[in-house]
Amino acid sequence: MDVPLARAWIAAIAAAVDDQADYLTQLDSAIGDADHGVNLHRGFTAVVAALDGYEAASVGDVFVRTGSTLVSKVGGAAGPLYGTAFRAMGKALPEAEADAAALGKALRVGLEGLQKLGAAVPGDKTIVDAYEPAMTAYEAAVAGGADLGAATTAAAAAAEEGMRSTTAMQAHKGRASYLGPRSVGHQDPGATSTWLIFRALAEVANR
Ligand code: ADP
Ligand code: MG
Repeated sequence: MDVPLARAWIAAIAAAVDDQADYLTQLDSAIGDADHGVNLHRGFTAVVAALDGYEAASVGDVFVRTGSTLVSKVGGAAGPLYGTAFRAMGKALPEAEADAAALGKALRVGLEGLQKLGAAVPGDKTIVDAYEPAMTAYEAAVAGGADLGAATTAAAAAAEEGMRSTTAMQAHKGRASYLGPRSVGHQDPGATSTWLIFRALAEVANR
């Protein structure tokens, strides 16, 4: 991944969030406060503006700026969580470009940062339930010799499966946890946006 591909990923996320904002908000209206799509739309609109004309020397620069913008522009849980993940990922990528293995390591560092902040573990019905399986699949693909396109395709498929698995879960973190057992039977909004993020990555990596 080089700087133009990193920018293309962020642009693809912004386009997906724009396209799916109503759907994300609809999911959040069932078990939250109906703002997840609105939050991410505001955030990634601000990110696109912040990257416009920004001179990035490395892929990490793109992600640090993305994360900082999300942290500062988005209220609610998801902005700081995704923002922290992108910042941590970016700081792990000081070189101008990243190969599939380096990007995988950085994505894993991003997940660790998100979990340090939010303290969610797999099974809590959160972003982690899509992000963790995506990383496991990505790392297994790279270990098997996959290139960036194949590794990101595997990650997106695992994120989708993880997203679907949240429907049966009871929420233990975030607003949905206030519902207790009534949170069961609804797909988690954050796991859904995580799938959109990995799908966007696979899209641009396979262009
Ligand atoms: P808020 O819950 O503050 O309204 P959003 O609606 O933007 O924020 O985001 C809700 C999503 O955030 C949830 O669907 C869940 O996936 C995710 N989330 C909430 N708390 C956590 C946490 N502690 N760790 C990981 N993800 C979380
Ligand atoms: Mg919400």
